[in-house]
Amino acid sequence: MKAMQQVCVLGATGSIGTSTLDVLARHPERFSVFALSGARSVERLFEQCRAFRPRYAVMVDEAAANDLRGRIKGAGLATEVLSGAQALVEVAGHADVDIVVAAIVGAAGLPSALAAARTGKRILLANKETLVVAGGIFMAAVRRGGATLLPVDSEHNAIFQALPREFVGDLEAVGVRSLWLTASGGPFRTLAKEAMERATPEQACAHPNWVMGPKISVDSATMMNKGLEVIEAHWLFNARADQIRVLVHPQSVVHSLVEYRDGSVLAQLGTPDMRTPIAYALGFPERIAAGVDGLDLFKRGLSFEAPDLERFPCVRLAFQALESGGAAAAALNAANEVAVEAFLARRCGFGAIAAAIEAVLDRLAGHAAGSLEDLLEADRAARSAAREFLDAARS
Ligand code: NAD
Ligand code: MG
Repeated sequence: MKAMQQVCVLGATGSIGTSTLDVLARHPERFSVFALSGARSVERLFEQCRAFRPRYAVMVDEAAANDLRGRIKGAGLATEVLSGAQALVEVAGHADVDIVVAAIVGAAGLPSALAAARTGKRILLANKETLVVAGGIFMAAVRRGGATLLPVDSEHNAIFQALPREFVGDLEAVGVRSLWLTASGGPFRTLAKEAMERATPEQACAHPNWVMGPKISVDSATMMNKGLEVIEAHWLFNARADQIRVLVHPQSVVHSLVEYRDGSVLAQLGTPDMRTPIAYALGFPERIAAGVDGLDLFKRGLSFEAPDLERFPCVRLAFQALESGGAAAAALNAANEVAVEAFLARRCGFGAIAAAIEAVLDRLAGHAAGSLEDLLEADRAARSAAREFLDAARS
């Protein structure tokens, strides 16, 4: 490994992005920031450019890019500002980049993650939607491009840590019986169904253990986050649906578990702080400091319970999409993105999220899925079907 690693942080202005920069700042002798990106938060990206002096800054929004350009110039920084979605693909695949942190939210993160895979980078994957939409194509690109894929999602990072190093995609061969994904249960874990129907975006985003972006916060409240993670685990670890189990664990201390054939269960534990899996993936196979406090097990009890699939139908819908295969997971993800956005904008109720996804899954069941273009077409069709469903439900 080179002494100084060049890092491209996509989605730098978000929750995972800022946690990543916090870890990078602790290791200036090891990592240098090559590029940072944000959708439209100019102020935050400007401050990050001032602190980390990247070669490139990408703003997806053109007007925001112009604004940032003015500020960068005014501050006398050498950072070059690029704009548009294509620029994300260019910086992710740039020949000088060693590590790509894929922390954009939603299917919008797919093209740049794919570019990193095709150009053989070390990919720190936070953007689970990439695997949900196009897992087969992405994993093939990782193999062909000679990329190193390290999961940042805390559950998958925990499983990665609890699997033996010699694991190369055959769970049977290393004696694994099941992968157990833990879920906090979110802010509505104990709420009655009727009260969930009336839930507001503020209530849905008030997660008990993690501070995250708005989309994944709502995903945690519906438990679709766990559903997406089931599909993510399928692709990352080549696990069948019947090898993946979901376990509610309200304290978010046990980040996930691997159950072996002999009855052994290995888990990874820690304070709920995303800097731990980020630092693990940045330093792998070395352990580097993350700024995270030690875990005080004297202060916390650990408890576990079964998920309530009646109040959280999204978990069931994700398993259904995984078993259907084809474009079902891409359709599930797209419908979810549209419905979550509508819920956050108060254009639909909380219960409409799962209802919209279910309706879209039924409609798009037989959609073609042979190529990336097919999947992107399924994504578009699912988005418009979800909008139609939500419009009809309102009128
Ligand atoms: P966030 O909303 O805080 O940040 C998202 C980032 O993506 C921002 O930098 C934003 O500017 C950028 N972005 C938004 N839309 C974009 C678009 N259309 N094109 C390009 N960039 C765009 O989200 P987050 O919580 O940091 O989550 C990021 C990803 O990591 C998600 O896929 C999420 O599921 C995953 N993840 C997050 C956490 C967490 O603790 N926050 C944990 C595990 C996985
Ligand atoms: Mg997670």
